[in-house]
Amino acid sequence: IRNLRKVYRIGSEKVVALNNINLDIERGEILCILGTSGSGKSTLLNMLAGLEKPSRGTVTIGGKYDITKLSENRLTRFRQKNVGFVFQSYNLLPALTAIENVAMPLLFQGVGKSKRNKLALQMLNEVGLKSRARHKPTQMSGGQQQRVGIARAFVAKPKIVFADEPTGNLDTKTTYEVMNLMVKMSRENSQTFILVTHDSEISLFADRVIRIIDGNIESDERVTEEQRAVLKEELEKIRLEKE
Ligand code: ATP
Ligand code: MG
Repeated sequence: IRNLRKVYRIGSEKVVALNNINLDIERGEILCILGTSGSGKSTLLNMLAGLEKPSRGTVTIGGKYDITKLSENRLTRFRQKNVGFVFQSYNLLPALTAIENVAMPLLFQGVGKSKRNKLALQMLNEVGLKSRARHKPTQMSGGQQQRVGIARAFVAKPKIVFADEPTGNLDTKTTYEVMNLMVKMSRENSQTFILVTHDSEISLFADRVIRIIDGNIESDERVTEEQRAVLKEELEKIRLEKE
């Protein structure tokens, strides 16, 4: 990511959402983008995933594609093949059931119907929603819809998964379960996993944390063993409460 800048214009007003971002992300890395509301996290994620065009700068993936230069068609194909995205506002298709929503990325990859259903149901089971497979988004709670979105992002094992506040609507216990699951899946499949949150505790699930303030990277640090030990303690507490 080189010299990435995004300016929104509304009439005569100008909002600099991202100032000048420079960043290298390793394959297989679990990276957390941490920052307060309005700091530019979603804007950055959307541009890394090719959902929005920057005002300036480049996003090169695999040393090959500058995704800011791809045509809409090629960008769509690139995303369908390589990218999973968990949206802050879910973005489920309202007319489709949970299982149909989750199966969608597999459909784009040409997977046959029975295999699609099998894999989608497995993923729904992983996020604790097997019994909701035939429900539509409006028939589910916010946190349940969020988990359907998570299942959809991971089902096709994309090379990169982006998650924008994926636990924003979940209680503490479900948050930890879902974070554990996402980290486990990305490790198993050597997926690069880029996670956005405003919660510093959640950031400890990552290998590395980037803090963003007013569209600038303020710090870039590896998560230490000591920090992870604190997280493990918290997880243990929750496990005990559950029993
Ligand atoms: P939150 O934690 O609340 O989701 P965020 O860190 O994701 O916040 P962004 O959504 O990236 O923040 O927004 C960064 C800045 O850009 C904010 O000041 C916001 O008002 C502005 N912004 C975002 N999207 C647009 C848009 N489409 N048009 C105009 N301004 C925008
Ligand atoms: Mg946001």
